[in-house]
Amino acid sequence: MFDQEQEKTNSAEQVEFFQRPSQIPELRGVEAKALDEVADRFAFRANDYYLGLVDWDDLDDPIRRLVIPQRGELDEWGSLDASDEAANTVVHGLQHKYADTALFLAASSCAAYCRYCFRKRLFMGHNEEITQDPGPALSYVREHTEITDVLLTGGDPLVLDTGVFARILRGFARIEHVRTVRIGSKMPAFNPGRIIDDAALIDLLARVAGRDTSLYFMAHFDHPRELTERAREAIGVIQGAGVHVVNQCPVVRGVNDDADVLRELFEMTTVLGMPQYYLFQVRPTAGNKIYEVPLSRSWQLFEAARRLCSGLSRRARLVMSHATGKIEVCGLDRDHIYLRYHRARNPNDEGRIMVARRDDQAVWFDDLELIG
Ligand code: SF4
Repeated sequence: MFDQEQEKTNSAEQVEFFQRPSQIPELRGVEAKALDEVADRFAFRANDYYLGLVDWDDLDDPIRRLVIPQRGELDEWGSLDASDEAANTVVHGLQHKYADTALFLAASSCAAYCRYCFRKRLFMGHNEEITQDPGPALSYVREHTEITDVLLTGGDPLVLDTGVFARILRGFARIEHVRTVRIGSKMPAFNPGRIIDDAALIDLLARVAGRDTSLYFMAHFDHPRELTERAREAIGVIQGAGVHVVNQCPVVRGVNDDADVLRELFEMTTVLGMPQYYLFQVRPTAGNKIYEVPLSRSWQLFEAARRLCSGLSRRARLVMSHATGKIEVCGLDRDHIYLRYHRARNPNDEGRIMVARRDDQAVWFDDLELIG
């Protein structure tokens, strides 16, 4: 009845994937064709597990807003590579922006697509940034002994066949000076069965985590409703393999731009042993205008949420992944926004504190006027 695609997984569960909004039964007659046009521009992907979390009676449902396209995405705005990742690419698939960290793009898809994705360019037709051949990247990291931390990302590396993923993970983890390997993945939210049902994947994680390299899983839950029983089971299985888990997500208009929602997310992730690491500002990527929250409001929501939490749930930082570095939003008063380079591409900027004129329309660092 629908175009279906079986994910390359070892999952015992059959997961049904949708590539067009008009294939989703609940969307028929609700301008589904118009949404297909949006998907022609910015790829759409979802699966029956995740769509099962949507409250279809609510047009403003946050889970719906996270995966179902909106006409507003077609507003001309932003650029496809808002953080200029191209400038950091040193060999095929590998970015090296900060001296100690390298980032390997291993997969060109995810189990579903977040509409606000900052790497949506990877899902648009032919893309040459991705590779499943880590050879040149491994050689580069071996030669650069200052690299102690490797992030495997994409896309979502867990869409790969476990054997392919194993070669990549083991390759980096075996390099002597690499002390931490991070796996960036929204799989526990989008398709937890991919993890729960794959004994070979869990065995792989346990073997790698049991050696000298520390393995971190950078989970991506945007909303407490994604933390279903299955999702929590997937996180438990990963933790049971000896992998450290943290959570990170952006603050997205209509999804989680609510202090109570963020508080609940921070508290639930703490209880589950995967504390919030970063809360990101949505990057000014093409198609993202309708998902942006102004910087000052992001800060106010972040602060309000943290004030409602115990100390353990207050560990996150609000940051912008800017071309020049990771810029933390540190505070706000009537006239100013206070910022700090948490990571900087130029080592001279590390830790630098900046003062900008307060502008409640600004959504990104480049919108601000620095005065100190
Ligand atoms: S999981 Fe990450 S890479 Fe995949 S669509 Fe969402 S933001 Fe983009």
